[in-house]
Amino acid sequence: MTGPEKPSPLGFAQEVEKLMKLPQHLCKQRGICCRIATFKGSLNVDDIRKLSLMGDEPGAEMARDFLSVFEPYATTEEVVEMAPEFVDRVKQTTQLGGGNPDNVSFFKCRFVLADGRCGVHEDRPVGCRTYPFPHKDTIYHPGCGFEQQGKANWQRIEEIIQTLEAMSNAD
Ligand code: SF4
Repeated sequence: MTGPEKPSPLGFAQEVEKLMKLPQHLCKQRGICCRIATFKGSLNVDDIRKLSLMGDEPGAEMARDFLSVFEPYATTEEVVEMAPEFVDRVKQTTQLGGGNPDNVSFFKCRFVLADGRCGVHEDRPVGCRTYPFPHKDTIYHPGCGFEQQGKANWQRIEEIIQTLEAMSNAD
C-alpha cells in the first residue's frame, strides 16, 4: 500500500505560474489603474529613473517598461482630488514598509483614452499585459475587480513558498 503522493517542487512551480495570471474577465475596465499608478507600490520618480539605467539589474527592465508609458503628475494634490482612498492606501503601505509617504510619485499613462480604453492595446508593454501582479506590494484601487482574487492568490503563493522552504530544510 502506498501513502498519499508527496507534493513535488515542479507541481508547486506549475501552480505558482497559474496563480500569477489573474483572469482578465475580473477587470471592470474603468481605466483608473492607467490614469493613476505607482511603481512597485511606492517608489519616487527619481528612484525609478535611476533603476531604469541599471542595465540587467533586477527591476531595471520593468522600470524602463513603466517609464515608456507613464509620466508623473506634477503634484500629489491633484491625485488626491481624483482618488483619495487610493492615495491613502499607497501612503499607508509606504509608511508600513518604512518609506516616506510624502515622497511617493503618482503617474498617468500617456496612452489612456478618455473612455478608459487603452490607445495602444496591441502594442502595450509587458507590464500592462501582466497587471496586476499578485504580490504583497501590489496596491489595488478601491473597487478593483482583481483585488480579492489577487490577494487570495498571493496568500496561496506564500503558503507554497513556506512549504518549499520546509521541504528543503527537511532534506
Ligand atoms: S499602455 Fe494601455 S494598458 Fe498600459 S497603462 Fe497605458 S492605457 Fe493602460
